[in-house]
Order: sequence, then structure tokens, then C-alpha cells
Amino acid sequence: MSLDRVKQLRLALEAYNRAYYQEDNPTVSDAQYDALMRELEALEAEHPEWITAQSPTQRVGSAPVGSFASVRHAVPMLSLANAFDSQDVFAFDKRVADTLAVAGLVGLDRQVDYIAEYKFDGLAVSLRYEHGILVQASTRGDGTTGEEVSSNIRTIKAIPLCLAGSPDQWPAVLEVRGEVLMYRQDFEALNQRQLQKGEKQFVNPRNAAAGSLRQLDPRITATRHLRFFAYGWGEISGVPGKTVAVEPQHDLFALDTPQEGLPSDTQAGMLDWMASLGLPVNQGRQVLRGADALLAFYHQAEQDRASLPFEIDGIVYKVNALRAQQTLGYVSRAPRFALAHKFPAQEETTRVEEIDFQVGRTGVVTPVVRLQPVFVGGVTVTNATLHNEDEARRKDVRVGDTVFVRRAGDVIPEVVAVVLDKRPEGAPVFAMPTSCPACGSALERLPGEVAWRCTGGLFCSAQLKQTLIHAASRKALDIEGLGDKLVEQLVDEKLITSLADIFKLHREAEQARLLALPRMGKKSLENLLAAIERAREPDLDRFIFALGIRHVGETTARDLALALGSLEALRQADQERLLAINEVGPVVAASVHHFFQEPHNLAVLQELHELGVQPKALEVATAQVQTLSGKTFVITGTLPSMSREQATQRVLEAGGKVSGSVSKKTAYVLAGAEAGSKLARAEELGIPVLDEAQFLALLEA
Ligand code: NAD
Repeated sequence: MSLDRVKQLRLALEAYNRAYYQEDNPTVSDAQYDALMRELEALEAEHPEWITAQSPTQRVGSAPVGSFASVRHAVPMLSLANAFDSQDVFAFDKRVADTLAVAGLVGLDRQVDYIAEYKFDGLAVSLRYEHGILVQASTRGDGTTGEEVSSNIRTIKAIPLCLAGSPDQWPAVLEVRGEVLMYRQDFEALNQRQLQKGEKQFVNPRNAAAGSLRQLDPRITATRHLRFFAYGWGEISGVPGKTVAVEPQHDLFALDTPQEGLPSDTQAGMLDWMASLGLPVNQGRQVLRGADALLAFYHQAEQDRASLPFEIDGIVYKVNALRAQQTLGYVSRAPRFALAHKFPAQEETTRVEEIDFQVGRTGVVTPVVRLQPVFVGGVTVTNATLHNEDEARRKDVRVGDTVFVRRAGDVIPEVVAVVLDKRPEGAPVFAMPTSCPACGSALERLPGEVAWRCTGGLFCSAQLKQTLIHAASRKALDIEGLGDKLVEQLVDEKLITSLADIFKLHREAEQARLLALPRMGKKSLENLLAAIERAREPDLDRFIFALGIRHVGETTARDLALALGSLEALRQADQERLLAINEVGPVVAASVHHFFQEPHNLAVLQELHELGVQPKALEVATAQVQTLSGKTFVITGTLPSMSREQATQRVLEAGGKVSGSVSKKTAYVLAGAEAGSKLARAEELGIPVLDEAQFLALLEA
């Protein structure tokens, strides 16, 4: 039985290897592939007699395709052992320390020095320099034989055709090992171009990089903006100047490839040396002592990865001392001195069960894919957005399709590509509905817009629900207890038919109906009504924001409130008056003006007024306005004593602005505990970073 399973796993993994390595077109996610590989490894560990030299567990990559000339690597190009959690890392560190202790290569504390490096998500290549000149480049292939891609590699600007420095510094032979990859922005631009030409979309930057490098026509590679980072070496000989001897001990491969006479005796030193020869070596590396330090580096990188311009899929730990590396040696397909600690997968494959259409607050109808639940990016995903009709058609997603879903950071999950090979026969082509799925009104698509909108306005129950959810949200009227679920019930039960109806819920008849709702107890009703009472005198800016006028976000609402001082003044402001307000442009001015021309909106405002809803003008001390006026803040991490909303409020009160992303225009980043990529970005751009105490001091200033 389990031998059958072994055979089945091998066949599946070989097929996946071909699709991934030879066709640059994976049909399953890396996580699925890794799970099958681990299952095979476990079965082979139980039954070592079943291991064959051909098993995917024993081999690297896949044989090179015939279209390229083959290159035999002087030193094999191996894979890396994988770790998926911290236990794997501790076990690795222990194995390393145990072996090095026997060889007397680690101190009594058994703390090993490692170098942690980014694990670039691209493809491995070997570049051969002879007397400083790039003479050949090849892919990894099956580790022993790769494909000759010299002409293609020469089109990559980051790769020097001739080493830096003077010829008397160049080794006779230097085989540089590193990763060819594609920056995210180049990947997106490439997929856009492919789409316009009606050509294949790549699933991710790794496959795009591999597909771009393995082109028979180097002119195509040249258009693909590939990059390169060096992380290792193969054959090295004739290094000028002072060198150190690194005696090969158990090295299977070094026997006929002498490595004595290296310029450094550590991995870190070798990378610095390669950098000094003009080879691109990424800054994302650090020498660290012990497993805890490795894990700290890993977690930091996990936070920072979203702000890197390229994809990394984990961290590689390597024992730093080359002597120790040699002592540890190799297993069949990977060194024992290195470990790839992978990040949780951000991409998975799953099945499309349904394509639904969601109606937003402003009536925009968005196609949403309902998925078979799948664990990706650290959460279970059941929906993914297709954004709009054009995007849905472009991706040609159909019910029944197997798709790649991606969720990175807090970004809304999206369908990246369809696995066409797995499309069921007769799967219906995507079509946008012609009427609103919620209220049946006609849909319209305005010229120049990508979105279809429901023309039902607030008669549309879906739009009304979204309007109410927005109005009750924390940054608007802040009505605690009036969340998605309750709004849904209130609208479905026709207890609420407009924004103004919120303020009628305290009436006796309404209260009785509310109490009849499922899950509505006396206490929660009291709390809800109290929260509504508190919202009867909202700050003017919150009230304006709550109205959900298109293009009027929190900051614009504040600008309008400060400049005009009352709802009445806002209602009467013509476009000219609106345009005179700092920061208000023609789009906002037109939208605000349009809102107050709509009789339906005016009726709702009138009703709110009659129900005693009285927005308060903002009281802002002039001195404070000047404190932060025109300054943009980014707030990140957990602050010791205030929430991010409270901090935002303080910035706004002092005349500043708050933005979600760090750019050159950011004046300050306010960072609390566990601040991640935004903090890193601020440091990169040299933007002042404040902690809470410094922030409060600035406000006082
Ligand atoms: P790997 O990608 O797990 O690790 C080895 C590779 O890491 C090296 O060859 C090198 O290219 C790269 N690397 C990046 N940064 C490095 C650094 N700083 N130092 C050293 N190496 C660095 O192993 P692999 O053998 O290339 O590929 C196996 C993995 O590929 C699998 O675990 C799976 O995730 C994926 N895969 C997926 C499919 C699929 O169908 N989805 C098929 C085959 C392989």
C-alpha cells in the first residue's frame, strides 16, 4: 500500500517538476508541492530500502530542456533543505552544533555563527568569470547539468560583463552562484504587456523570471528587466594576494574542484569579496550567533518583505565559517550546513464555486469569486475580488476553474491566474449581470469608468446597507453595536429605509420590533440606543464623512468642516467656493456639489435635522492648527497609551494629515511596538520616526 503511495507521489512530483522547471508554468502551489515532497520524504525515511537515485527526494530540479546547449557544472548546484517552523530551525542548529562540537569547531557554549540571507524567489544561475571576464552562464538544471544561457544573461544590466577593480585583483576562475529575479513592478508591467498582446500571464515573479531567462531569443530577455543577486560560488582558483586554505574534509564535490586559496574563510567574507568585485550582493544579510538570533531575523524579514521591491520566500541560514561548512558536508541534494526557512505560503490553488456580484455603498457592482476554503497568507480564504468587469474578462475566471489565489499581508485576496489544464468542459464564460442583483435596477457604466453602477440609489437595499455600515463606523458617527449583521437585519426587516431612520429607533414601536429580532436582548438594545443618542451631536467633520459623499474621505471631510464651519454653509457652497478650499480639487468639488443637488439627499438631511441631529462645528485652537499644518503622518504599530484612531484624531486636530503609506512626502512616522514595513521604509527614506512620547511633545510644542 505505502509503496504504491510512494510511486504515486514520485509520478506526481515529477510531473509538477516538469511544469515548474521546464515550462515555467506551475500547476499546483508551492505549499501543495512541499506537502507531497514531505510525505514522500517521510515514507522513504521509514523504508530506506525504497529510495532510488531517481526519486525526486534525491534530485535537484529537473533535466535541462533540449533547446539550449548543456553545461556541466564544475561544482554541482544544489538545492536547500527546508524548514517550515521554528522547531525545524532548532533541530537544524542542534545537528550543526553536535557535529561541530565533535570536530572541535564550536565553543563550549555550542553557539554557532551563521549568516542569515534573504531567500530570493527567482532561479539559480552560475556565472563563470575567467580572468575577470564573463565567459559563460548557465541555469541550475538538474544540479549537474544546466542550460547555457550566456547571451540571455548578458542582457541583464546588474551583471557585470567584466569584474570591477584592476586585473591584478581578479581570480583566474570565479564561478558566481546567485539568483536571477524580477522586481514586482516589472512583473506587473510584464503581465500587462502580455495581456495586451494576448499572451500568457505569469503566475508570479519567479515564474516570470524563469520564463524570461529561458528564452531562445535573447532580445526578448532584454525587454524583461531581470535582476541578479550573488549569494555563493562554485569553482574558484588563482585568487591573487593573501588567501586562506579551506581544507576539504567530507566534501563530496570538492575533490576535483580545489577551493583552497580562497580570499576569506567565512561566508560573509566571501560575499563582501564578491561585492568588492562589482557583483551585486543584496544588503539583506547578517551574521548572527545561535538559533534565537536567526528566528528574530526571520520574523523581522517577514514584516519587511512587503516593502522590498522583490519577492523573498524565506530566509537561508548558512554556517558562517567555511571550515565548518566543509566539516558538515552534503547529503544527496543539499548542503548540511544550510537551511531554507520558508515563509508561510502566500499563494494557493483552489476551486471557484461561484461568481457573485457585490453592490457597494456608491452602487459599484464588484464581481466576487466564492472559493472552496483555502488556507493562504495565514488565514482561511473563501472569497477573492475580481475588481471589475475588465479584470474578470482579462483573467477569464469561470465557475469550476482551479485558480491560484494570493493573499499577501493585509491585502484583499485576489485570483492571480487560472490553471487552464484543469478547466472543466463547458465552464461558462464570465458575464456581468445587466440589472442590480440586490434591487433589480438597471446597471450603468459611465464613459471612461471601469465600474458598473446600480442606478437604484438608496432604494437599493445593498447600497443602503453599505451606507449605514459606513455611517455607523468608528471614524464616522461611531455607533457601537450597529455593525454589518444588525444593519442587514434592520434593512431586510424594513426597520430602516434611510440614514435618518437610525435616529427613530428609540421610539416605542421601533423598540418593540427591535426586541423581536434574533440575538437582540434588552441590554444590547439599551447599549445600542445609548450609542445612537451619543451620535446625535457629532463633530461636523465626522458627520460629513458619514454622509458617504463620493471622494470625500476622512481628511477631506475635515478640510471641508474647518473651512466652512457648518453643514448649512457646506450645503450652500457652490463649486467655486469649494475649489477655493485648500486641498479641494475639481473632482471633490463636483462630487460635493452634486450630492447637495440631489433632492433625496436634501430630504434625508432635513429629516436628520428634524430628528435633532446637530453636527457641531470644530473647535480648533489656531495655535494648534499651525503646529502640524500641512504635515503628513503615518502611524504604525501599537502605541503604549493611545489607539491609532486617537493618535489620528490628535494629528487632525493639530491641522496635520494622516496617510496609510510612507513616501517622500511623509513628514513623520509615529511608530509603536511591532511596527513593521512602514518603519523600515521610513528609515530607508530618512524620514523622522517618533515614539508616542516624542509625538505628544511635538503636539505640545
Ligand atoms: P528551494 O527553492 O527551496 O531552495 C534552493 C534554491 O534557493 C537555490 O537553488 C537558490 O536558487 C535559491 N536561493 C535563493 N536565495 C538564496 C540564498 N541566499 N542562498 C542560497 N540559495 C538561495 O529549492 P529548489 O530545489 O529550487 O525548489 C524547490 C521548491 O520549489 C519547492 O520547495 C517548491 O516550493 C518549489 N517547487 C514548486 C513546484 C510547483 O509545482 N509549484 C514544483 C517544483 C518546485
